[in-house]
Amino acid sequence: MTHIPFDTTQVFIGGRWRAGDSGQTLPLANPSDGSEFTRIARGNAADIDAAVAAARAAFEGAWGALSAAERGRVLLKMSARVLEQADELARLEALDVGKPLKQARADAVALARYLEFYGGAADKVHGQTIPFANGYTALTLREPHGVTAHIVPWNYPMQIIGRSVGAALAMGNACVLKPAEEACLTALAFARIADEAGMPAGTINVVPGLGEEAGAALSAHKGIQHISFTGSVAVGALIQAAAAKNAVPVTLELGGKSPQLVFADADLDAALPFLVNAGIQNAGQTCSAASRILVERPVFDAVVARMAERYRALRIGPALDDLDIGPVISARQREIVMGYLEVVQASGLKVAAAAPMPATLPRGGYYVPPTLVADVNPTHRIAQEEIFGPVQAVIPFEGEAEALAIANGTPYGLVAGVWTRDGGRQLRMARKLQAGQVFVNNYGAGGGIELPFGGVKHSGHGREKGFEALYGFSTLKTIAIRHD
Ligand code: NAD
Repeated sequence: MTHIPFDTTQVFIGGRWRAGDSGQTLPLANPSDGSEFTRIARGNAADIDAAVAAARAAFEGAWGALSAAERGRVLLKMSARVLEQADELARLEALDVGKPLKQARADAVALARYLEFYGGAADKVHGQTIPFANGYTALTLREPHGVTAHIVPWNYPMQIIGRSVGAALAMGNACVLKPAEEACLTALAFARIADEAGMPAGTINVVPGLGEEAGAALSAHKGIQHISFTGSVAVGALIQAAAAKNAVPVTLELGGKSPQLVFADADLDAALPFLVNAGIQNAGQTCSAASRILVERPVFDAVVARMAERYRALRIGPALDDLDIGPVISARQREIVMGYLEVVQASGLKVAAAAPMPATLPRGGYYVPPTLVADVNPTHRIAQEEIFGPVQAVIPFEGEAEALAIANGTPYGLVAGVWTRDGGRQLRMARKLQAGQVFVNNYGAGGGIELPFGGVKHSGHGREKGFEALYGFSTLKTIAIRHD
């Protein structure tokens, strides 16, 4: 049995660890070999009730009484502890999610950086004074919503907890966190770290459990004032409907089918690593994965050949072997991705390259072959639907107008990348691409913790990351004082 330095079967409510109300637990599988390696609590509506009540008590009590600077200091303390424990957190995330250790460690460092950024920002969110009528002074205050709900997926638990819970706490909210049932160990570790850093009891509550039980109970709860959801479009719609019933604001960070556009004048040496890595990182299970690579005709064959070369050199294996790619999260996710690869075959599409699958891969692991598909029609299913696996479609185009039509021609709009040396084109493309973020001559900007992030169209609405998240996790009060 893998050593985990805490009991994973408990919920964390009101500063206390205890069994969930149902007394039941759920298995957690190690994606690298398919074995059950621990169990987690099957949180239910009663646990959510208790968590919301504990958060409310913290908000009205010890947490709410802290000044902004004091709140920031707690977050900074948490950041330091995350860094101290980065190796341990990375090991947990690698076991739980199946991501190579180095990538898991980068996620731990990103979590620390989110806490550092939001810890530093806590006392720097200012209101305004407004030149209103004579005899008045008018001003605005940024206030916390109260109790915020955070429903996160399994692909980047640490990063998503950092950007969502970190920003909410900085603004003074108290949080109830429902991690994904497939991967929630670092959410539990996060609660331990908050506790060690002196976070008042009830400020952060963690209730693992199934989406349709704990998640649904949380999103419909009358005691929450904001929901931050990261996950699929289908569940995002359910969350928004639940929030509507209580007139609660939501931030939805949903899926994507993000393109990188490569023009013939691009610096291909610089582009190549980004084109491939942004597609296969975390076994393609990244909301902002560059799953479509659009290439201008004159360099199409060269780009495909060079990407294929990289694919053939990719090393795939168990997370703790720390190679380039690990397994996908679950047997179900593997089936979904393999289903798309069957579609590729059945449609007679050209597989430009597939990474080699070593015979030594653990038999029960959820491995899929990273696959590069060339000459894909932009309307084909694999160029339209989010696969959430290491499969990239390369699509040819001629000129800016066609590039834009293809890039904008999906239901999604999360991220886009443009590779060109032409300054005018950089701006024309950046302005016309339908996406929440556009990167020019890079992609992802090293994680971009400071950069507002979120989608348009089916990729969602609201912004996380950067300073912008602090506005989302607060509400604006206008005060007008008459004193003439
Ligand atoms: P998912 O929607 O199935 O689950 C996400 C979370 O929602 C989990 O915690 C789950 O338990 C919970 N949930 C499920 N059903 C629920 C319900 N009825 N009520 C309340 N909560 C419920 O998504 P997933 O498969 O875990 O994650 C993959 C998806 O997430 C992809 O579409 C991906 O693009 C998206 N994603 C988006 C971002 C982003 O920032 N835009 C980041 C990561 C992942």
